[in-house]
Amino acid sequence: MSDRITAIVLAAGRGRRMGSRIQKQYMQLAGQPLICHALRAFEQSPVDDVILVCGPGEEEYCRSGIVDSYGFTKVRAVIPGGAERYDSVYAGLKAAAGCDYVLIHDGARPCVTDEIIRAAIDGARQYEACEIAVPVKDTIKVADADEFAVETPPRSSLWAMQTPQAFAYPLVYEAYRRFLEPDADRGGEATSSGTAASFGRKANVAAGSANQPSAITDDAMVVERFMGRRARLIRGSYENIKVTTPEDLAVAEVFLSRTSVI
Ligand code: C5P
Repeated sequence: MSDRITAIVLAAGRGRRMGSRIQKQYMQLAGQPLICHALRAFEQSPVDDVILVCGPGEEEYCRSGIVDSYGFTKVRAVIPGGAERYDSVYAGLKAAAGCDYVLIHDGARPCVTDEIIRAAIDGARQYEACEIAVPVKDTIKVADADEFAVETPPRSSLWAMQTPQAFAYPLVYEAYRRFLEPDADRGGEATSSGTAASFGRKANVAAGSANQPSAITDDAMVVERFMGRRARLIRGSYENIKVTTPEDLAVAEVFLSRTSVI
């Protein structure tokens, strides 16, 4: 029997950095709402089905105005996300129960290609945890709170994370459960990370950076921290950008107008 692959497409962010009244995932990009581009890439890919995670209260609009209007037949559920990206991911993971591999994708990355999706699936099968990424081109500095540069990590070891990130489902589900519902471990067996159960959700969320409660910004971090498993980086494309600020829309439009090669 072949394995079952589900994609979780995240579209529950508020997109504040776009500075627009219309939420970024529904803004027009190359003639369609932005979110349609990622949904089409998964529709035409080998994934079996898609869970679309949208803002609470937007489910009906997404179902009729996006999924039905544009004919996305692989979207099997439209569910509300949470306050932070990781809450939305966990909601998506619960809805994806029963699959063997899961791809987690930022709906705000409209230029994802079939090649990238296939590379993520292959990576998940081979390594159980992988993330699409590209080596950084710029020199990256670590700054202090006063915005003085304090450190320059060697560029040759730095990669910029993209999505999809892809995992064996039981591995990533258990990682998120330990991260966000650690109290369920009380009285149960010790976790492999040893300490997660004693933290509680609030401490888990705050762990990593004292000044930054939302320090968890990527799924592989959760798998590393709570399951002790490293993720393999799979080379993606410099065109697989995340649309965050207004100038990104113009760039994405150019990329979407031609075929991308990874
Ligand atoms: O905020 P950030 O740019 O990291 O968001 C990446 C992706 O996660 C976006 O597609 C956004 O819609 C999604 N997200 C979400 N739920 C949140 C925050 C972000 O689904 N609470």
